[in-house]
Amino acid sequence: MHTDCIFCKIANKEIPTKFVYEDESVAAFKDLEPQAPIHVLVVSKKHIANLLDVAASDQELLSHIMGEVIPKIAKELGVDEKGFRVVVNTKVDGGQTVSHLHFHLLGGRSMTWPPG
Ligand code: IMP
Repeated sequence: MHTDCIFCKIANKEIPTKFVYEDESVAAFKDLEPQAPIHVLVVSKKHIANLLDVAASDQELLSHIMGEVIPKIAKELGVDEKGFRVVVNTKVDGGQTVSHLHFHLLGGRSMTWPPG
């Protein structure tokens, strides 16, 4: 837990936030500035700054998020039929503004490509 990290504070309930999903290692909550009708952020409770900081020991956690948590949330929010997008902005050129690894789950509308 990084004391100055907003997503650490949210994930560890220092900032009261309604979770869309929670388990012992992961929390998910609605984005403050939604870019689609469904816009959820999925974060690990453990502080990992970005994808480049993922350690070998985090493989199970990442697999859990991508392979279990995100599909579960997508189904619960009803975007599994038509589909959705998962985005992981990484560092400055990737558009990352919060230095705590997070997965944007976006759905509820047709996405365009390429992203901006
Ligand atoms: P990034 O730009 O990929 O780092 O995404 C950070 C996201 O966090 C943005 O979409 C913000 O709208 C969102 N965000 C920032 N602070 C909060 C918060 O306190 N609650 C929920 N979402 C937040």
